[in-house]
Amino acid sequence: MKKQSKNPLLLIKFLTLHSLLVLSASQDFDFFYLVQQWPGSYCDTKHGCCYPSTGKPVSDFGIHGLWPNRNDGSYPSNCDSSNPFDASKISDLVSQMRSDWPTLSCPSNDGLTFWGHEWDKHGTCSESVLDQHSYFSTALNLKTEINILRALEDAGIHPNGSNYSLSSIKDAIKRASGHTPWIECNNDSSGNSQLYQIYLCVDSSGLGFIECPVFPNGKCGASIEFPMF
Ligand code: AMP
Ligand code: AMP
Repeated sequence: MKKQSKNPLLLIKFLTLHSLLVLSASQDFDFFYLVQQWPGSYCDTKHGCCYPSTGKPVSDFGIHGLWPNRNDGSYPSNCDSSNPFDASKISDLVSQMRSDWPTLSCPSNDGLTFWGHEWDKHGTCSESVLDQHSYFSTALNLKTEINILRALEDAGIHPNGSNYSLSSIKDAIKRASGHTPWIECNNDSSGNSQLYQIYLCVDSSGLGFIECPVFPNGKCGASIEFPMF
């Protein structure tokens, strides 16, 4: 005869506690930043850039990363050295990665170093939610949901070396996407503030955009250059 638990309520309590403990132990973050980068601003700096060995990327924002973050502003990193980047797991994504997640570091390379760095540093911290293939495919799919360049161009903000206000850039992205972005600036070789990276927040399952629980630090100049690429 099958043994019956004498107290099913106790069993339910135990299972709930158990799953809460497992969840809190394995998911040490509250949301993601999806960070996209303007390649012209990565290149237009003192360090410069190198185009990928597969050719110059298209003139569009590229993904920098999908970064697990906590509501207090801190973030975990390099969470699981036993699960290192394995390029063979994303072979079906590589052609989309080349166009939407382009490497720009020198010397010129095929991108695996950049993607591996992002997985090892950030991806391993959300591996309980997104395995390696889902981590990259989730970021690629989220990027296609909000076309940042189109949002800016529709508002008359073009990558032609002109200057724009922070508020006009923020408003254009907010109007098109429904979500408030964070704008990160860097400096060109003459010290001018330029539009470098756009942060949008994503829920902890990677399913959709949310309003950011907390914003990064940093300051843009009052007038921001949008360089050509
Ligand atoms: P992270 O460590 O994820 O915060 O990202 C910062 C690192 O990524 C720095 O080492 C950057 O030089 C590098 N990085 C940023 N953008 C790119 C890019 N498009 N290609 C290659 N490396 C990049
Ligand atoms: P501040 O100029 O720092 O007083 O900021 C004025 C408003 O703009 C606040 O709501 C800030 O959160 C917002 N803000 C400041 N810098 C940025 C930025 N780089 N990206 C997005 N919002 C910003």
